Amino acid sequence: MYDVIVIGSGPGGYVAAIRAAQLGMKTAIIEKYPTLGGTCLNVGCIPSKALLDSSEHYHNAAHTFKTHGINLTNLKVDLKQMILRKDDVVKQNVDGIQYLMKKNKIEVHQGLGSFVDKNTVRVTKDDGTSQDLQGKNIIIATGSKPASLPFIKLDKDRVITSTEALNLKEIPKHMIVIGGGVIGMELGSVYGRMGAKVSVVEYLDSLIPSMDKTMGKELQKSLKKLGFDFYLKHKVTGVERKGKEVTVKAENSKGEIVELKGDYVLVSIGRKAYTDGLNAEAAGVKISDRGLVEVDDHLRTNVPNIYAIGDVVKGAMLAHKAEEEGTFVAEVIAGQKPHINYLLIPGVVYTWPEVASVGYTEEQLKEKGTKYKTGKFPFMASGRARASMDTDGLVKVLADAETDEILGVHMIGPRTADMIAEAVVAMEFRASAEDIARMSHAHPTYTEAFKEACLAATDNRALHI
Ligand code: FAD
Repeated sequence: MYDVIVIGSGPGGYVAAIRAAQLGMKTAIIEKYPTLGGTCLNVGCIPSKALLDSSEHYHNAAHTFKTHGINLTNLKVDLKQMILRKDDVVKQNVDGIQYLMKKNKIEVHQGLGSFVDKNTVRVTKDDGTSQDLQGKNIIIATGSKPASLPFIKLDKDRVITSTEALNLKEIPKHMIVIGGGVIGMELGSVYGRMGAKVSVVEYLDSLIPSMDKTMGKELQKSLKKLGFDFYLKHKVTGVERKGKEVTVKAENSKGEIVELKGDYVLVSIGRKAYTDGLNAEAAGVKISDRGLVEVDDHLRTNVPNIYAIGDVVKGAMLAHKAEEEGTFVAEVIAGQKPHINYLLIPGVVYTWPEVASVGYTEEQLKEKGTKYKTGKFPFMASGRARASMDTDGLVKVLADAETDEILGVHMIGPRTADMIAEAVVAMEFRASAEDIARMSHAHPTYTEAFKEACLAATDNRALHI
């Protein structure tokens, strides 16, 4: 009998298993695929960032090296090698998880995990053999899969999801991206930087629509410079493939039909929770109409010894959110009283410039009726950004109008994915904009833009604009 059985080895599942083992619990993890690490390590965060880095190097070599005084001739992309390097990065990471399982004495079972009852999970291997595992506590961490529209036939060849976009054999001539969210903008950037024309069709009126509106607007400007075309407020009504040609039909806000022709369509309209084959009914676990496993504030399902974490439950579909929940649940099972501050889970888009955000957006503050002040600082005015020629974007700080407490920080610019951590720390310690404005930030760094935006938020006293 295990103390804890974890179903799914993504960032939620493997972190839950490690923390449970650290706390002295006998732990098993079940993964249906041959490699550990889930979406994030195999077909998500890690491979996408590997390709984003490679394509950004190429883009810089082709477009900015000359200005730096570096002349290259015969520059070309070796896509096959780029994909091989990405595969190697994935392998290093998934092997790392295997090592961590061994180090923490976590038993790894490869096969599909399905409930037999509330304490028994059957592991069925590809060859059909199976084994039943008994657990006092069970954590569902089965993640998510790409969502699509009912009328789109994903052929996984030219009408593709993010998974296939990480393994293309050629650079598209014209990639049509359906959905202006994080994954579409990241993978669109990968191929846009290498010369593909990219057209984005988005139903709403802005890109990355869950983030502060300023971010979407600024990102659109930067991606336009890369050659992206945008069809905002366009509702996709049809996708067809004939040979190597794909056609996307979309209806604009005037009710007119727009037709786009390309050679690849990337469907990136979001992801849906995944519980296929889990047989949750056998344990009596409730699944919502939207396919999410229902949980309470302690991430406990309606069955007291069964918990669920990560993409398969409500909330942002982010690896670090899943990880926090993995730690949280292991500690709850061990009788501790952990806490997650969901407001302070940052969101990042790894385009260039990067977008990073934490806390409330300006739109949310307006809706809540909170009185707030805004401080902005453009990277154009940053010495560090000028030195690296990364002057697109800005930092925007939202602070309470009366108390000066920082309520939200939204950044678009160079390395903001890393910079946002300072804002998370500041907000966790309930810093005021004045607090940050009075702290020394090394010069020249991109982080000075955060200090300057805080100075701007407190009596408009930014020093360098
Ligand atoms: P998953 O990582 O989806 O893992 C679930 C695992 O459970 C899978 O391995 C699956 O095979 C297994 N499983 C499912 N059912 C069973 C079963 N019945 N039995 C056994 N095993 C089962 N997030 C970020 O925070 N930062 C990023 O930069 C980022 N980039 C992304 C880029 C792309 C292209 C994509 C697609 C996603 C990205 N994400 C990113 C999102 C991130 O990958 C997910 O939020 C994260 O992987 C969720 O973790 P999880 O543990 O809940 O589930």
